[in-house]
Amino acid sequence: MTTSVKTKLVDAFSAKDASASLEATKIPRRDLLADDVEIEILFSGVCHSDLHQVRNDWKGTTYPIVPGHEIVGKVSAVGSEVKNFKVGDIAAVGTMVDSCGTCQNCLDGIESYCLAPATQTYNGHDKHLNCPTYGGYSDSIVVREKFVLSIPEGLDLAGAAPLLCAGITTYSPLKHWKVGKGQKVGVVGLGGLGHLGVKFARALGAHVVLFTTSPSKIEDAKKLGAHEVVLSKNADEMQKHTSTFDFILDCVSADHDLDAYLNLLKRDGTHCIVGAPANPQPVSVFSLITGRRNLAGSGTGGMQETQEMLEFCAQNKIVSEVEMIEMSQVNDSYERLLKQDVKYRFVIDMKKSKK
Ligand code: NAP
Ligand code: ZN
Repeated sequence: MTTSVKTKLVDAFSAKDASASLEATKIPRRDLLADDVEIEILFSGVCHSDLHQVRNDWKGTTYPIVPGHEIVGKVSAVGSEVKNFKVGDIAAVGTMVDSCGTCQNCLDGIESYCLAPATQTYNGHDKHLNCPTYGGYSDSIVVREKFVLSIPEGLDLAGAAPLLCAGITTYSPLKHWKVGKGQKVGVVGLGGLGHLGVKFARALGAHVVLFTTSPSKIEDAKKLGAHEVVLSKNADEMQKHTSTFDFILDCVSADHDLDAYLNLLKRDGTHCIVGAPANPQPVSVFSLITGRRNLAGSGTGGMQETQEMLEFCAQNKIVSEVEMIEMSQVNDSYERLLKQDVKYRFVIDMKKSKK
């Protein structure tokens, strides 16, 4: 199929197959349609999903892939019908750049669950150019206004970038399951998602317990807002919390023992998985039957909720803890993610990477 939409080439970083490093390349960005916003990218967060997809862990990657769905930048041009953004504004893009707009989930304002499905920011299908979508490890991006977010005044821009995926992915389930005062809430894994989960759960008023496999993270977890920290490999420590949790947010990127956490839930408690390990994770039905427990999952939130999350962050002074890197360090950063060695999100300074 050919397309009549004109494009320009911009600098980006892509991987050409599952074993390749990310390397400099050029990608097409469309000329602005009436409701499009062009954003010059300043900061791009490194999500573990970037790594999963570059390495084809989930078996759905189209190559070459340009990852990046935690994007903060400056508006460099707007289409003729754009109302809420002008050149020079700070703007942000998360995990999706379009959706059908007509299915029930879109009508309900939860475009992230669009049945079409939603067009992912990268490794999705760009219906205008009939090619894969390319993400934020690039100089600029063109996105429909409806899928562009505003960063409230006062938020550090590099620290805000991870909010666009890690932030909304942890905020949305905490709000959906009405986490708040008087509840005991667990967060599993102190990585990019987990550390924001701790901050949000604490800000929402819950008693927060962080589960980690990394003894070196205990002190940080407390500083970030955890009331208690449990070393998940220590069965005795885990046992002490049996049947006491209202809600557990599971942010782990690799295989782990779900039964060990299900057994910590109270009657009717919920273990919500947001981490996305490549392999199926086995569960004993007895962990669920005993205590009428719930096992759930959650994706990122819709546009309205993502904007609400950003406002919540501004009110509560929440941003991501970041390790700033340049594009040349991104391959190393992936290796460090695999060793659980990040404090607590790598963010690429796209401008510095150009020099
Ligand atoms: P991350 O920064 O690498 O953090 C993952 C954490 O999981 C690690 O820091 C580690 O915490 C823990 N962990 C890693 N390997 C483990 C193992 N073998 N056993 C137990 N714990 C282990 O990753 P992230 O960016 O936060 O992403 C986490 C997961 O969420 C990824 O799978 C990602 O694809 C997924 N994700 C899902 C959505 C969604 O829509 N649901 C959105 C974004 C990301 P400790 O060192 O504290 O143990
Ligand atoms: Zn992500």
